[in-house]
Amino acid sequence: METIFTKIINREIPAHIVYEDELVLAFLDISPVNHGHTLIIPKEPFVNIFDADPEIFAHMHKVGQKIANALKATGLADGVNLVTNNGEAAGQEVFHSHLHVIPRHSGDKAFQKPTHVTVTPEDLVRTKTALTAAL
Ligand code: AMP
Repeated sequence: METIFTKIINREIPAHIVYEDELVLAFLDISPVNHGHTLIIPKEPFVNIFDADPEIFAHMHKVGQKIANALKATGLADGVNLVTNNGEAAGQEVFHSHLHVIPRHSGDKAFQKPTHVTVTPEDLVRTKTALTAAL
């Protein structure tokens, strides 16, 4: 599986890399929601949460915490959204897993709140039953 992110890992195309260790690479998003928007990717590619190595996926989030703290310390963020888009239905465009660390400032409206569906008590019970059976 080769995507544009493989080329970044292999230094075949430029990127503004802010952090690297043996498992992950973190670099600035080329089309940032806010200044400091960072992507964290596994060096050994997997597509998304559904085929992820859970240890590496967890490590991506540990590094996300490190980057969130750095963004806050530098004044690039007052808050952050951590987001992974998993699958086309969820808006994933690059099929090499990546964790977005999205800096936020009060009132910036950069990242809109989701819409909601209406649920009945029966809906909640049906959903809980299906989910707990699958877990
Ligand atoms: P997603 O919709 O979660 O798959 O997001 C893909 C993200 O990758 C987008 O935010 C893009 O701006 C970002 N992106 C795509 N190509 C590059 C690149 N060459 N360097 C940095 N970020 C990129």
